[in-house]
Amino acid sequence: MAINIDTVYKQFGALKVVNGVSVDIKDGEFFVMLGPSGCGKTTTLRMVAGLELPTAGRISIDGADMTYAEPRHRDIAMAFQDYGLYPNMTVFKNIEFPLKIRKLDVRERARKVEDTAEKLGLGELLQRKPSQLSGGQRQRVSLARALVRNPKVFLMDEPLSNLDAKLRAVMRTEIKKLVTNLGITTIYVTHDQIEAMAMADRIAVMSKGNMVQVASPLEVYDRPKTRFVAEFIGSPPMNLFPAQIKAGGTVTCILPNFAHSLCEEERAFAAQIVDGKGGLLLGIRPEHLVVAKAGAQGATDALVELVEPLGQTTNIYVSVGDVRFVIVTDRTTAKAGDTIGVVAPSDLLRVVANDDAVVRH
Ligand code: ATP
Repeated sequence: MAINIDTVYKQFGALKVVNGVSVDIKDGEFFVMLGPSGCGKTTTLRMVAGLELPTAGRISIDGADMTYAEPRHRDIAMAFQDYGLYPNMTVFKNIEFPLKIRKLDVRERARKVEDTAEKLGLGELLQRKPSQLSGGQRQRVSLARALVRNPKVFLMDEPLSNLDAKLRAVMRTEIKKLVTNLGITTIYVTHDQIEAMAMADRIAVMSKGNMVQVASPLEVYDRPKTRFVAEFIGSPPMNLFPAQIKAGGTVTCILPNFAHSLCEEERAFAAQIVDGKGGLLLGIRPEHLVVAKAGAQGATDALVELVEPLGQTTNIYVSVGDVRFVIVTDRTTAKAGDTIGVVAPSDLLRVVANDDAVVRH
């Protein structure tokens, strides 16, 4: 089912938590809301579920206005970070519970529970109590309980945050596979950029109650529109330099060799930024910078301040006068105190808005 969120606001007293969010989520889409603590992700999700009512705006599910509908009329299932399992019930009974409330026939209930448990690899564990399960297994029981009644929409709020890093990685693939196979429209809330990148069809990056950018994971990574998105996604984050547009549509910054020619689309975007309150930035991902010999043509000489060998990649922190930035490269022999050349391929430089700028998506 498609979900339409139309200019939705939420205020708690004087506190503005969601500031006019609008987005169309497609039928069967895996949509992730990503942002730091307090940006309004959970509140937005709870409004879709009907657990919170908007101060203004409209929420439709499958074309029907659901803004003020009771949660039970929305055909939505939710899973949270605290699994909320009943400790005295077996796995079977936990998963069966939503069906029992709906007074389904006993045999029908058993069939659905076994079917869902099988899909989630819980077939062998049906007679155990939650205390006899690992964290990952408990999480799967919680998902099974949410999915057993075949909801049309699935809402998940940081469902993996209680798990250790390794299990999180396994579970995120399992969840994604499962809901994709079932074709359920899913909204998933997280503050973890890797989780968002790995799972989402589209990511909404949220800050201070706004969806700052809504796009596919790679679009958000490759073409962040604002400083907030550029710095929130990517580790280390994108290098950003205050920039100006020169006649002819070239963008330059304090490092003369870092220059970029605007294409048609970027020109319109840059005009929007310049019209706004904020400034224009030129950005480049650390792994797009190329290390060359000091003095090489087209390269900018930089002083190596710190080298972090991480195994798979190496971070080289450099400075050019007062300007500091980071390069991600393969293994290197460069060490602190060396001078290296740095090349910024023009086509990989990006125009980014400072966050005060007005940017529409
Ligand atoms: P987190 O990742 O920490 O859960 P979030 O992005 O999901 O953050 P929300 O839970 O939506 O953020 O909360 C947004 C803001 O609204 C926070 O400042 C929070 O304190 C406030 N808030 C949430 N619920 C209420 C409430 N019932 N009454 C008053 N303020 C609330």
